[in-house]
Amino acid sequence: MNDTDVAKSKHEEVPEKGPRPLPEVLLWRGVRLRCPRCGEGRLYRNYIKMNDCCSSCSLKLKREPGYYLGATYFNYGATVLSMSAMFLFFRLGMNISVDTILWPLFTFCLIFPLLFFRHARALWLAFDCQFDRSVLDEK
Ligand SMILES: [Zn+2]
Repeated sequence: MNDTDVAKSKHEEVPEKGPRPLPEVLLWRGVRLRCPRCGEGRLYRNYIKMNDCCSSCSLKLKREPGYYLGATYFNYGATVLSMSAMFLFFRLGMNISVDTILWPLFTFCLIFPLLFFRHARALWLAFDCQFDRSVLDEK
């Protein structure tokens, strides 16, 4: 195999098709729960159900089993960061005792992930599109 064949095979692994969205664009599309490829199609048909594919560009949103498991990292991270920020704000900023803020923060840690899971999945998909650009080239 000569250099041309190697370059050709590498080119075939990651096809180049059109301009790629910038990372901040992918992030914004994730926050808005929009398709990471076109930014037009909605990711969810209702509060829980994700669309099988984008209504605008047909990007496959229903991925292989376990694909969205990575979204739990985003959900966990967002929960821990926001809970820690609130703890520091109430404890150090407002000087409220730990006994007083413990149960409200515990309740927050139970409810917030349920409310954030759609964004966690959307951000995971955008994250994957940023680092595995072949997802954007799928038919
Ligand atoms: Zn789309």
